[in-house]
Amino acid sequence: MVSIVIVSHSPDLAKGVHALAEQMTQGKVQIAVAAGVDDPENPIGTDAIAIMMAIEEVYSPEGVLVLVDMGSAILSTDMALELMGSEQTTNVHICAAPLIEGAMSASVAAAAGMSLEEVTNEAHNALLAKYQLLNQSAKLPNGIPTDVLPTPTDSEYETEVEWLVQNPHGIHARPASAIVGAISAFDAQIWLRCHDRRVSAKSINSIALLDVKQGDTLACIASGKEAQQALQAFQLLAHNHFNESIDEKIDVMNKQNSANTIHQFTDIIEDEHGCLRAIGISEGIAIAPIWHYRATMPKARDRSYLGYEQEWTLYTQASDAAQQELSQLADRTAHAGSKSESDIFTAHCAMLADPDLSNQIAQQLSNKINVENAWSSIIEQTAQAYKDVSSEYMQARAKDIYDIGRRVMRLLIGEAEQKTVLTEPVILAAVDLSPSDTAQLDPTMIKGIILEQGGSTSHSAILARALGIPAITGLNKLMSRSQEGSVAVINGCSGEVWLSPTSLQLESAQKELEKQQFQKEQAQAAMIEKAYTQDGISVDIFANLATLEDADQALNSGAEGVGLVRSEFLFMEREQAPSEQYQYEFYSQIANTFGNKQVIIRTLDIGGDKPLAYLQQGHEDNPFLGCRGLRLCLQNEELFKVQLNALLRARAKHPNLYVMFPMVSTPEELHQAKSLLSDCHNALQRDGISSAIPEIGIMIEVPAAVVNAKQLAKEVSFFSVGTNDLTQYVMAADRGNNAVSYLVSATQPAVLRMIELAVKAAHDAGIPIGICGEMAGDPKLTETLIGMGIDKLSMSPIRIAAVKQAVRATHHQQAKRKAKEVLNAETLPQILAML
Ligand code: PEP
Ligand code: MG
Repeated sequence: MVSIVIVSHSPDLAKGVHALAEQMTQGKVQIAVAAGVDDPENPIGTDAIAIMMAIEEVYSPEGVLVLVDMGSAILSTDMALELMGSEQTTNVHICAAPLIEGAMSASVAAAAGMSLEEVTNEAHNALLAKYQLLNQSAKLPNGIPTDVLPTPTDSEYETEVEWLVQNPHGIHARPASAIVGAISAFDAQIWLRCHDRRVSAKSINSIALLDVKQGDTLACIASGKEAQQALQAFQLLAHNHFNESIDEKIDVMNKQNSANTIHQFTDIIEDEHGCLRAIGISEGIAIAPIWHYRATMPKARDRSYLGYEQEWTLYTQASDAAQQELSQLADRTAHAGSKSESDIFTAHCAMLADPDLSNQIAQQLSNKINVENAWSSIIEQTAQAYKDVSSEYMQARAKDIYDIGRRVMRLLIGEAEQKTVLTEPVILAAVDLSPSDTAQLDPTMIKGIILEQGGSTSHSAILARALGIPAITGLNKLMSRSQEGSVAVINGCSGEVWLSPTSLQLESAQKELEKQQFQKEQAQAAMIEKAYTQDGISVDIFANLATLEDADQALNSGAEGVGLVRSEFLFMEREQAPSEQYQYEFYSQIANTFGNKQVIIRTLDIGGDKPLAYLQQGHEDNPFLGCRGLRLCLQNEELFKVQLNALLRARAKHPNLYVMFPMVSTPEELHQAKSLLSDCHNALQRDGISSAIPEIGIMIEVPAAVVNAKQLAKEVSFFSVGTNDLTQYVMAADRGNNAVSYLVSATQPAVLRMIELAVKAAHDAGIPIGICGEMAGDPKLTETLIGMGIDKLSMSPIRIAAVKQAVRATHHQQAKRKAKEVLNAETLPQILAML
């Protein structure tokens, strides 16, 4: 990286310039100062020796740019270069730019990794913005180039995103420097557009020239190999308000009434190549004719009241049938994807079984209102109650209420389920899709989905991903701008949509689709085989699961063991806790399915967002910071002992069974759990029941566990990092809260550094460490995680094929370098750029 030297007559002036440049680059660039002379009587002046020492202090083979204030500063610098000798000074440039503006522009350009020549150019152009701001019509003085505005690219694949700027002071120097830092590493042409002017997004001067104010729409446009990554990095930074806090929110924001971040984007405009850019929520390419899908709530019939008994019977019949449909859907989605997707329908089932709901119905029926009218008014009230909650996540749940409402109403009025039999493949276009709509989709006919509404965390998005259907959301006015039957192209990764593609665009999309299919087939074919890095290092690729069906699916997907059995699911869909015998059989069967491969059963992780109906927990203001996981088990010993007994018995028969405790914070908790396990073992043995103590591991998912890792590592055989929880606790950001979703990323520097600490503690103690949070299943992160020393990656079975391919593409030594680079990065956008 190019370094900077500031030469000034005045030490105070140089100090100030240094501090400003440091602030702009957050200390990324090496900057040295040579200012004043060693004469207390007359300290103003410059000293060649001091300048030479400053250059040597920050010398970099990529170059040093020296910025000088005036007159003798230039002579002293010349003399310093002479003193140094020619070999070292070939890469040292003295710059004629004004000291303050030049130093700012040069340091930002250097921090962005630009060459010495580019850094010098940026410094030379530093006055442009000031000229523009002071007098738009002023002619620039001779010598300052006017051709810094780049000519737009004519690439066919130019894409853009728009952002409504909310920063109170617009895009001034600091946000501009954040933009340059976030996007300049990408191999792409990137531009910013505002007020109909377009400038290079890699030049801080040009960005300042745009004069972007609060309330302006700023477009980021990119083309080239890494255009999508660059746009994503820009979006991420934009969501973080270019690393500034925005205290004064502007009116425009208040007008937005939706919970979804997508509404911060302005109207989506078709670019000159017919491309619309919205939000990709499920990756893949689809090419097919558009099909408009409109789901409506069936209307209550206008009929007279039949009497309480009869109306109640109609209600219970419809409700029971709906619950049956929902549990079938839950089973089906569990098979198609993983347990977490089917939980959506299990949750719908639980909402329907809520005694409060039955009470409300009963009350209305006793007021002589027929069941259909009663049902529709209760659904409306309940949905409204969700919409009124301030949590965005809860507001989004109103859709689930309408979904349940529609299902029961259809059964009440005897209307058959809307099942459209499609005879040819289509891209479904809709305003929104409920989870039930999505689950009914036939993935062989629905090639893609485009929606006007619904965020990337909506249940429809989760289901689309589980079904492997490419999907895009947030495309406003979709239904009016698309035509049924006309062939469209979507890219679920980049969020691009072509509603009327040209033959050239169709051809190129077809090629990309074939390439993706080929890669997928290759990955599928190799998924059963063990994956080694190119230099022969093996990494364990394990599965996360919750049911026996998941176990078969995991084995068939190439899982080399089970890194996480979420045992709490066994406790959830029932009216009382499962018996010891039931649990024993369940754990034994999973262990048996995997033969001699390791199976790690996590003990009950209840509490937080997973309450148990039959366990009276009492109200907690902050359930995620409350009694969950091991804490809850230690406070409910009887419940815990039943599980421990079942595990001890299963281990006696299956030596491949291991046990892991969740939410451990302190060594005392671990001691308590281990001593309870040993008491249970002794009691079983006393009763003549065969029992064996399994090897014990813990989840690292609380910051305290990372800090206590050295002490905890002495007590266990392995660590497994639960990055889903570790992220929310390290970042103090609820993983279900959209307003802080920009913080909830396991690739946040703070989270990665936590993982680094845990890896060190584990390896120092000679025990292996794995990751079983969602990040383990992201092939983009595989190289970095291997480089960080992670021994095992445990994930949803559908991710195994892609992660194994990523392992095969990794070179261990390079991975170590990559991990070091990533861990040295200072911001999330920088890390995303590297990934
Ligand atoms: C985790 O927190 O990363 C984890 C795997 O546990 P869960 O998602 O079940 O809380
Ligand atoms: Mg967890």
